[in-house]
Amino acid sequence: MLLLMLACGGDAAEQVFTGEIFTDAETTTGAIAVTGGVVVAIGADAEAMVGDDTEAIALSGAAFPGFHDAHAHFLPGSFVMERLVMLGTSSMSSILSAVEDYAEEAPEEPWLIGFGWVNALVEDPSGVALDAVVSDRPVLLVDSSGHAALINSVAMEAAGITADTPDPVGGEIVRDPETGAPTGLLLEEALSLITPVTLADYDDEQFLAPLREQLAALPASGITSVSEILASPGLDLTWPWLYETLERSGELPVRIHYYVPLFSTDDVESVAALAGVYDGDRVRFAGAKVWVDGSMGTAQSWVSEPMEGTHDDYGSHYFTAEQLLDVVARAEAVDLPLKFHANGDAAVAAVLDALEAAAPLGQPHVLDHAVLIDEADYARISALGLTVSVQPPHALVAAFGDSADAWGAERFDRAYDYTTLEDYDIAMALGTDWPVWPTLHAANSLWSAVGVEQPMSLTAALRAYTEGGAQAVGQDGVLGCLAVGCTADITVLSASPWDVEASALSELTVEAVYLAGEAQD
Ligand SMILES: [Zn+2]
Repeated sequence: MLLLMLACGGDAAEQVFTGEIFTDAETTTGAIAVTGGVVVAIGADAEAMVGDDTEAIALSGAAFPGFHDAHAHFLPGSFVMERLVMLGTSSMSSILSAVEDYAEEAPEEPWLIGFGWVNALVEDPSGVALDAVVSDRPVLLVDSSGHAALINSVAMEAAGITADTPDPVGGEIVRDPETGAPTGLLLEEALSLITPVTLADYDDEQFLAPLREQLAALPASGITSVSEILASPGLDLTWPWLYETLERSGELPVRIHYYVPLFSTDDVESVAALAGVYDGDRVRFAGAKVWVDGSMGTAQSWVSEPMEGTHDDYGSHYFTAEQLLDVVARAEAVDLPLKFHANGDAAVAAVLDALEAAAPLGQPHVLDHAVLIDEADYARISALGLTVSVQPPHALVAAFGDSADAWGAERFDRAYDYTTLEDYDIAMALGTDWPVWPTLHAANSLWSAVGVEQPMSLTAALRAYTEGGAQAVGQDGVLGCLAVGCTADITVLSASPWDVEASALSELTVEAVYLAGEAQD
């Protein structure tokens, strides 16, 4: 011991954590020493660094590198979750009664905003039908996927939507087949006709209040880092200063790696210019979110073979293959990482074509969702070194979505194939897409990853939740690990996931969370 102390020059660490500590998904040590928020020694070397002023912390349970949710929408999500939450609502009659009740409960709200009705399950969704219960205020009800919305006549008027309004590129104003009048159902990019009008009636503080509340609940869920998307299709919330504000006031118990939407090729340089502008210790610009194709919930993924029962329906896409080439080349030129929303196999292939054309790549680009991947494309993803950001909770409920029918059984069977991703040694990152999946807890995320039909191994799930998330945001070797040199972001679970049955993973509880060695609660 004396020799060891001499070997370390007798340096004491600021903190020494002891217990069952995983430095990565599989490797454990009994201790880590932390100084300045960074791991400076592990094992016996760490134990030797307890000095008079060292904070010695004995951890119970099992400690991991802090968990990273690689796909969430906290800013837009916390705002809508504070309003009319309609998760699971599957009929027009239940939508109407929910809106009627909410109108009475919230007489001061300038807009009646709701979230979570299920577009795939509601027969003949109609915004105009909402007029029967609310005719004096605008109503905007976003569906659970975020890719469809119902608006009443007052809202349509406010947005200037009439029978003569053309469909925007990548979107649809659904119309009555007989009269041609808009029904008040907007799909995909058509949401952009209404959301700026809605946002104009709200200020920063009205977004900050629910965001603050949502973030305060995060340490209890075991999450230390989030890939935050400041948008959804048709909804641009590029307001990163809100996170800067929260960090300054000490109200940010989690790291926010934020992405802003890239709706057009011409925006590449202006989006890249945001790098560093609002960055702090816990807030950083991570890149641009690029919606390549439509959603699973509205059966609008971009596929290589026509949808079942059609000859020419290949789904929808916001960018052409040629535009993607341009986007990637320009992004690489200005060091802009891209996070691609790509559900269908054609969308995935188009992204890979564009990335290969620009290779070797200098940025940590990410494939989000990648629900259906052509057999030949796994090797291409692996060769490009991409991270695939997956959301196992989507796989749990996918059979109820529109895409299951539209893709057909054979094709749907090949979807959400985490086993093959693992076979090809492709780096995965794990996310919830909160609030699309409304449960935010480390135990739930781990359980869903190993509990789906084509599960990933526990090693892969833990790796995806730690180093995979870090790699996705270009922070590998800094975050998502607890080896020497890594930042001491730590999630302590009640027990090691290795010691419980897969089915019992969801019962694990979170004992503590540390950011750079600092306890968060
Ligand atoms: Zn999402």
